[in-house]
Amino acid sequence: AVTAALALSLAACGQSSTGGSKQEPAGGKGSTVGIAMPTKSSERWIADGNNMAAEFKKLGYKTDLQYGEDDVDQQVSQIENMITKGVDVLVVAAIDGRALGDVLRQASEQGVKVISYDRLILGSEAVSYYASFDNEKVGELQAGYIVDKLGLKDGSAEGPFTIELFAGSPDDNNTRFFFQGAWKVLKPYIDKKQLVVRSGQTRLEQITTLRWDGGTAQKRMDDLLTGSYGSESVDAVLSPYDGISIGILSALKSDGYGTKAKPYPVVTGQDAEVASVKSIIAGQQTQTVYKDTRALAKQAVQMADAVLNDKKPEVNDTTTYDNEKKVVPAFLLDPVSVDVTNYKQVLVDSGYIKASDL
Ligand code: BGC
Repeated sequence: AVTAALALSLAACGQSSTGGSKQEPAGGKGSTVGIAMPTKSSERWIADGNNMAAEFKKLGYKTDLQYGEDDVDQQVSQIENMITKGVDVLVVAAIDGRALGDVLRQASEQGVKVISYDRLILGSEAVSYYASFDNEKVGELQAGYIVDKLGLKDGSAEGPFTIELFAGSPDDNNTRFFFQGAWKVLKPYIDKKQLVVRSGQTRLEQITTLRWDGGTAQKRMDDLLTGSYGSESVDAVLSPYDGISIGILSALKSDGYGTKAKPYPVVTGQDAEVASVKSIIAGQQTQTVYKDTRALAKQAVQMADAVLNDKKPEVNDTTTYDNEKKVVPAFLLDPVSVDVTNYKQVLVDSGYIKASDL
């Protein structure tokens, strides 16, 4: 801690901690970036962490990459350690968007800037920038796919069709945006009774899935099938994330879906994880939303590099992401809907997934 503090005060005087009196820019070579990721239980976060570490390295930065394993206290102490060790900037994908206020106050007291990665950190002034995707659009793509596939969009079918809704973790700010986007698309059809949620569970707090856990979703889907369907079948399931979709599909399989007489419903997803793309090819999961984590990593690195060099990073949204203390300037990338018709072109041809992994 003493060395870190010394390094910090030397840096503040514009001197390098290696002794010379030569002026060095605050950012640039030798600076360390603390990268706090939420979990290794999903491929995307492993890729995000590795991609960022590689990009930062190319620019001459050192990195300290840590995974919180979906344990909020563990993530808080990982970030505390990074600050103590003297990182120059933090890139954080929060497990619980509201749990980082205290530790980020420490960061800001030490002059460490914070970039919110993919998930917006809430209730903290200390967040400088946000790199993410258009999260509302993710939900629109999922729900849009459902109404299109069922034939409701072009009027080739009238329904009524049955549908159940799943949302992500209640402590992740994205959950709200994903569902908002989906609900906007689904609501008119629900109002017209062309879509029927037999369980009646349509409010966000009734349909969330703590920590995005597939097992939790499987259990809820089991309960929904038993409690609300009986001999009726479900035609569509709005799922916000591939890991949740896999859980939902397990429940459906156990209930006898996946035959000619009882085909799988339309099941959406997100992240284009290998297991889900395989499931799409096998005709089980129907759709996923691809978000190029390589591009997101590049944006976050660009932001951190600019911040460390007293430059303004490139942003393309300055109105949407209010974290309750400030509207955080953001760079939002475009999500892409993927199904069996375009996975090769979108995922394989772009090099995101190797054909041999499928
Ligand atoms: C991310 C999604 C991901 C989910 C679960 C969300 O915050 O935006 O891409 O599927 O977390 O990890």
